[in-house]
Amino acid sequence: MPAIFAFTCTCCGKLHEGSPSFAFNAPDHYANLTEEQKARIGKLNSDVCTIAHEDRTDYFIRTILEIPIEGVAEPFTWGVWVSLSKKSFERYLDTYDTPVEGEGFFGWLCNAIPNYPSGPSSRPTDVIVQLNRQRPKLLLHRGEQETDPLVIDQHQGISVARAQSLAEQAMHR
Ligand SMILES: [Zn+2]
Repeated sequence: MPAIFAFTCTCCGKLHEGSPSFAFNAPDHYANLTEEQKARIGKLNSDVCTIAHEDRTDYFIRTILEIPIEGVAEPFTWGVWVSLSKKSFERYLDTYDTPVEGEGFFGWLCNAIPNYPSGPSSRPTDVIVQLNRQRPKLLLHRGEQETDPLVIDQHQGISVARAQSLAEQAMHR
């Protein structure tokens, strides 16, 4: 029987109820800009972001990275940004109000998630469009011999204890 996730926090002593959910307001590339750069070359809203460099423009969208929790109905979720090609970004905007079920785009994960290694490079992903105004879901690509804990967690799921530990560190770090 799927259960509701809840735990008494070892950091603050409160009962935290519901599957943990954390989100980034912007891709790291945007967050790392100076205020002057954000105003001059950046554009950001709750779903999309662009950065207009002199030689190119970078395109980002916000997505949902789900990590299943063993025995719990709702997954642990991270609201994260991925970079898309110009073509994919334009297609995403063109179909924003009329998404095509199952459509996907290749993207690179653009946030460093707390308590996971940042990795040697950005992580490759598939962005899967959702209906009913849900943000797209992110599927991390798996390597032949996968060693990235984030990828392993998404594909294998995590224990309740690990979910609690990750949530505590994300909330109270
Ligand atoms: Zn707490």
